[in-house]
Amino acid sequence: MPYHEFEVSKCIPERKKHAVVKGPGEDLTSALPAGYLSTIPGTISERGCAYCGAKHVIGTPMKDVIHLSHGPVGCTYDTWQTKRYISDNDNFQLKYTFATDMKEKHVIFGAEKMLKKNMLEAFKAFPEMKRMTVYQTCASALIGDDIDAVAQEVMEELPGVDIFVCNSPGFKGPSQSGGHHTINIAWMKNKVGQVEPKITSDYVINYVGEYNIQGDQEVMQDYFKRMGIQILSTFTGNGSYDDLRAMQGAHLNVLECARSAEYICNELRVRYGIPRLDIDGFGFEALSHSLRKIGLFFGIEDRAEKIIAEETARWKPELDWYKERLNGKKVCLWPGGSKLWHWAHAIHAEMGVEVVSVYTKFGHQGDMEKGIARCEEGALAIDDPNELESLEAMETLKPDCIFTGKRPGEYAKKVRVPYLNAHAYHNGPWKGYEGWVRFARDIYNAIYSPIHQLALVDISKDELAAGTGFVTRRMLSDASLPEKVRSSETLRQYTGQFDSVSGFRDKTYPVFERKPEVETVGA
Ligand code: SF4
Repeated sequence: MPYHEFEVSKCIPERKKHAVVKGPGEDLTSALPAGYLSTIPGTISERGCAYCGAKHVIGTPMKDVIHLSHGPVGCTYDTWQTKRYISDNDNFQLKYTFATDMKEKHVIFGAEKMLKKNMLEAFKAFPEMKRMTVYQTCASALIGDDIDAVAQEVMEELPGVDIFVCNSPGFKGPSQSGGHHTINIAWMKNKVGQVEPKITSDYVINYVGEYNIQGDQEVMQDYFKRMGIQILSTFTGNGSYDDLRAMQGAHLNVLECARSAEYICNELRVRYGIPRLDIDGFGFEALSHSLRKIGLFFGIEDRAEKIIAEETARWKPELDWYKERLNGKKVCLWPGGSKLWHWAHAIHAEMGVEVVSVYTKFGHQGDMEKGIARCEEGALAIDDPNELESLEAMETLKPDCIFTGKRPGEYAKKVRVPYLNAHAYHNGPWKGYEGWVRFARDIYNAIYSPIHQLALVDISKDELAAGTGFVTRRMLSDASLPEKVRSSETLRQYTGQFDSVSGFRDKTYPVFERKPEVETVGA
């Protein structure tokens, strides 16, 4: 059997079916780890809850909205600030979070009155905000507070205000993935179709499953605008509440994160006949294919090809500078869900790094299937790992870097393994051509940082070795490179700006002529 048993989890035999090693010539289907199941008692998981999946991942990136959690303040705290989904309205949704702060007395006597008071107070405190999303938590779900009825009362009292209620308590599903599903369907059911879209182009898309982490959405939006495509809405990074109520007006749903947002695309296809096109903004090849596919759909391939040629010529020499220095480095690709298959092949092919392990916290078996298929033989694939398993994997696989979340990232540092934040990035955006180079630069900076030489020195008892001289990243990375690579005049280190996003916000774009109206006989 290809299953992998961790020494540390021998006392939990059920864990064995959650890890496999991709062996030579093995049938992928029999090698698939179990996935998207409830966490096994006895193991402690790195997962979030379904409320977190609904609010933190999908709801909160909406920019012009008061995001209010109806529950204990701790739920709110854990879904605030840790993901850097910036916006072009001064990051309102990142700066402010709202909570009703339920206590025992509310659990006993009900909290609807308090909820209404909080909603009115929040609108009064931010009068320019006319939109609100209210998130149910475990506590408010268990006592049966009718949030929809309270929202209706507030909308009647405050004309011009619109409120979306998301009933996705923490226990709704085995992980945050349950919350992704719930909020997708709730938005579709309750909000899409309420606003009439303003169409300004012959090519109109919804950009779905994109959360604008450190500006990813704005990078991709720039390419679409250069192609003359109108982005009617983004679900949900840098997205506007009312634009998302008009999603029914698009000609195409362009989907990035299929794990968290395929549900709304599928519903838009069923209810409004809008086709779905899956794309990938990470990696030169995948991104070029994606722009080409969109161009083909609309019959504007030439515009896509122009962008691909310009961007590749500008950024490829910089990507290759890093590839030379990252070649053969081993990484563990341990993100939440879809990035394991967005990144696995692309980082190997375009940066030369070897993916020795993939894991997912909330991915489904389909995510694992795609992730494993894109890994090299010998990779260890783990579903919903616990901390001890991750440590054991790092000890045996000896990666040069891991890409994961903050919690596993912190304990990785303690065993002298550098980590990059796969959820919120280090110095992103990482999407787009320039973004991919920034990702390579962040990997390079992490792996070759001289600080790791010191990480395991116990300064309470060990003396620091003196006289070893000053070491830089470049000295470490270039030591074994051939001279012609070291002194290459075509390859170069990243030369972009520290802030590569702000410039997009004032940019003007070419105006493409609209197609002439065609009269339909007998219409
Ligand atoms: S599981 Fe329930 S109580 Fe815990 S954070 Fe999630 S919503 Fe709050």
